Amino acid sequence: MARIVISEFMDERAVAQLSARHDVLYDPKLVDDQSRLLAEAKNAEALIVRNRTQVRGELLAALTQCRVVGRLGVGLDNIDVPGCETRGLQVIPATGANALSVAEYVITAAMMLLRGVYQSSAAVALGQWPRNALANGRETAGSTLGIIGFGSIGQMVARLARGLGMQVIAFDAMYDRDASVYEESGVKCAGLLEVIAQSDVLTLHVPLVEGTRGLFNAERIALMKPGAILINTSRGHIVDMAALVSALRSNHLGGAAIDVFDVEPLPASESLQNCPNLLLTPHISGVSAESNERVSFLIADKVIEYLDR
Ligand code: NAD
Repeated sequence: MARIVISEFMDERAVAQLSARHDVLYDPKLVDDQSRLLAEAKNAEALIVRNRTQVRGELLAALTQCRVVGRLGVGLDNIDVPGCETRGLQVIPATGANALSVAEYVITAAMMLLRGVYQSSAAVALGQWPRNALANGRETAGSTLGIIGFGSIGQMVARLARGLGMQVIAFDAMYDRDASVYEESGVKCAGLLEVIAQSDVLTLHVPLVEGTRGLFNAERIALMKPGAILINTSRGHIVDMAALVSALRSNHLGGAAIDVFDVEPLPASESLQNCPNLLLTPHISGVSAESNERVSFLIADKVIEYLDR
């Protein structure tokens, strides 16, 4: 029986599956108590985290008994992967298990922001009837969706967007232009700057690594089509939020949906409050009832399998 420490929320039936075989500490608040986390880490043979537990530095050093780190999600920017490898620690992400939730979030945000009529509840309830002001909303079909990062999530977004009649263009730094994945997905491959300049809706699905940090700076945002929409569900530090707010306030951009931030939880921000056509969500695009279940059971199964070796 191995000691498993789970420091963030996990589907409770998947936790029960782990508990049936192993000695489990499940405490979704452990991530917020660094000294207790470090103390518990010393005896852990497996650690299961989401995106907030920073598996590096002191915590990594405390994981002296640990063999495996399960990640309830896909981005690995909160884990020092080379450091884990040096210590013989296997890192297991839930690749693909939350792609559909993120993709549905992207499509919903795109449709809401293109049409622009869903933020009128208060005005309608006040009897203002802003029908003329909202009459220029755009249809989704026929508009161009640009995808930066054509991995699991990017490809799922393309599938949904094609079903709605959108034209889809994509750029991925790792695939050749003639890679079969583009043709198979009915997507045109283009260079980064072409995708930025041609998209009515631009959505980012890259990991946070040195090559993507600051990718959407003021200069790149300025290259976007007037009235275009930017959606970031990838990671903070990829979009320059000050430049984005300024592009929304000047009406250069038609809207944005931002799910991920440089600092999370996001502290109160005056510049984001009342910024026009900006949808903000608390890093939730990948988390739905169904994806939480898929992600949690996938990681429970893989961690059990690894510990049984
Ligand atoms: P993935 O590894 O399947 O795909 C990422 C793609 O980005 C790869 O194809 C890679 O080649 C490409 N890429 C890397 N660097 C690039 C660059 N500089 N320019 C263009 N393309 C580049 O990952 P995924 O499952 O599609 O997830 C993508 C990211 O989304 C994750 O790394 C994570 O940070 C984020 N994510 C967020 C949530 C959320 O809830 N907000 C949920 C899941 C994933």
